[in-house]
Amino acid sequence: MKRIALITLAFCSYTILANAQSKFKSRQDSLEYEAAKTEVWNPIPKSVTPGTTVADAPSDAIVLYNGKDFNAFQKKNGGTPGWKIDADGALTVVKGSGDLETKEAFGDCQLHLEFREPAEIKGSNQTRGNSGIWFMSNYELQILDNYNNPTYVNGEIGSIYKQHTPLVTACKKPGEWQIYDVIFTAPQFKENGELATPAHMTVLLNGILVQNNAIVYGGVEWIGLPKYVKHANKMPLILQDHGMDGGNPVSFRNIWIRPL
Ligand code: MG
Repeated sequence: MKRIALITLAFCSYTILANAQSKFKSRQDSLEYEAAKTEVWNPIPKSVTPGTTVADAPSDAIVLYNGKDFNAFQKKNGGTPGWKIDADGALTVVKGSGDLETKEAFGDCQLHLEFREPAEIKGSNQTRGNSGIWFMSNYELQILDNYNNPTYVNGEIGSIYKQHTPLVTACKKPGEWQIYDVIFTAPQFKENGELATPAHMTVLLNGILVQNNAIVYGGVEWIGLPKYVKHANKMPLILQDHGMDGGNPVSFRNIWIRPL
């Protein structure tokens, strides 16, 4: 009798447990079914292998300068580019030799660029270590030695020149390498030449956000207000020789770009 009772108890326990598991499984299936409705599995993003550090070019980047040659660039408006490579591999502006522009044209992109203001301080305000990155040959992200060197704030380092003051001043001392990381979105134009959507820039200077998806108001202007003039969907990237003043031997290294 005792044996029958034990068998009955075991059977009932098994049945209760099985039912519970079945209900649990059913509930899990239901939750997973609902969750799957908002899962996206395709298209799968392409794989990109990161560099050893975040400063190193990832596998899909175009290396524009790596300390060996600057064949990715030419002199703007033609001729032999006059910039020089120093003993330490830095690419340095030679005053009055003209801007460099990439041979390849770019639109939307992610840019990594390292630069160094000259350790020997000359000039003040806008004549101290002035250079710049001109996206699509038109939209300038300013390079300037602003360390203990005040200037108009919409023209300081980290500014979109004369359009957007940087959120903070995040420069290092002259002679130290600094880093720009930029996300640039190209402007779009209508067939008739009117602007459809403006360019945008997000900029990190030395790892610090200085422009947060800022709207670019047009091409850079020293005098007057910026305006858009229709151009190609892709244009060269320019590094500026601001050679009209007392000498601005800004140096560059480790420049890479990812077309987006
Ligand atoms: Mg400049």
